[in-house]
Amino acid sequence: MEKIKMTTPLVEMDGDEMTRILWKMIKEELLNPFIELNTEYYDLGLAHRNETDDQVTVESAEATKKYGVAVKCATITPNAARMTEYDLKEMWKSPNGTIRAILDGTVFRAPIVVKGIEPCVRNWEKPITIARHAYGDVYKNVEMKIAGPGKAELVFTDENGNEQRETVFEFKGPGVLQGMHNTEASIRSFARACFQYAVSTKQDLWFGSKDTISKKYDHTFKDIFQEVYETEYKEQFDALGLTYFYSLIDDIVARIMKAKGGFIWACKNYDGDVMSDMVSSAFGSLAMMTSVLVSPTGVYEYEAAHGTVQRHYYKYLKGEETSTNPVATIFAWTGALRKRGELDGISELMAFADKLEKATIDTIEGGVMTKDLALITTLENVTALNSQDFIHAIRTRLEELL
Ligand code: NAP
Ligand code: MG
Repeated sequence: MEKIKMTTPLVEMDGDEMTRILWKMIKEELLNPFIELNTEYYDLGLAHRNETDDQVTVESAEATKKYGVAVKCATITPNAARMTEYDLKEMWKSPNGTIRAILDGTVFRAPIVVKGIEPCVRNWEKPITIARHAYGDVYKNVEMKIAGPGKAELVFTDENGNEQRETVFEFKGPGVLQGMHNTEASIRSFARACFQYAVSTKQDLWFGSKDTISKKYDHTFKDIFQEVYETEYKEQFDALGLTYFYSLIDDIVARIMKAKGGFIWACKNYDGDVMSDMVSSAFGSLAMMTSVLVSPTGVYEYEAAHGTVQRHYYKYLKGEETSTNPVATIFAWTGALRKRGELDGISELMAFADKLEKATIDTIEGGVMTKDLALITTLENVTALNSQDFIHAIRTRLEELL
């Protein structure tokens, strides 16, 4: 078979620890034999970030803006222990934070659904993708403890010194007080990313907030989503047969529990934080969760939702056998390759991504999996393999499909 050719480079961000080991295995076993991989390689491993004063992270994000698609391996976010372990010049910031700030994105997380790893909610047949707004609200709040009686006010002073003033509360005794904000620009870019992602994955979009109680704050979210929908996306939604559905967050939560899945659930920052943990654990495992950062201009960065699996890496270094699950990392690659194929009109690349995903799912559904899944599966007579052998089993199935 002739190898599939690529026209535009894919931005490849290598990472740390066990996922770096898996990265190499996936390329060698599942990609290089079938594709003439055209990547622009950035080593985001902590040692190299340290050598380049973290410039490599910035460069990789700039390259993503230039080419439009990136695939990222999990990376260490340094803490005190990592300072000594890697002899760091500085406690470098989270690469994901740096990349997010440059691309101005929204994070979408979706579970990989396979038979045998059953969601706790019986009627969830298809994945539910959470789109979390990643700016403002309680994460950029200002808080006070109030010692005793007094008046709390909300004051805004504009550039000309004009004041807008509201009484928050007349305290009769001790209490607590909090102020938070968001910007129309950030809400609009969140809305665009959600509609854009719905179009590109051909899924309905649901959004809920508490606009009945929060008549200005949450209502602004509702209004901006509605405006972006009507002025920029309604035609595309109609053409694709997609629905945009807004309701009160309470109603959305109730409906989610009864739904079949297969849609995107846009959440305000706090709702997304809480609900993504609920949805991901209800679907089974962090090792089966994909994550993609989408910018409002349509730039995509794919990764696994989990970290570098440090505990397994130390076992690996001691020469012990490890059974780390590579599925989310494989799906980061297939997501990126499919998107590259779509943008460049290379149908073979898109078909390859579909087949690699199918080979992975078939392998698990055939009872062959890593240890983490073997512990929670409802399938009987399963074989738990180490990472290398599991990836090899996927290769065997992939060759059948090709
Ligand atoms: P982690 O790497 O997600 O792993 C936590 C635990 O979850 C593991 O010890 C393992 O449990 C299980 N697990 C996660 N992924 C798995 C997989 N693919 N296969 C099998 N089991 C898996 O989180 P962490 O250990 O807290 O963090 C390690 C490093 O990752 C940190 O330096 C952190 O900064 C970084 N991190 C990076 C990202 C990112 O780049 N996106 C995200 C999160 C964390 P058992 O040990 O019980 O087997
Ligand atoms: Mg959380």
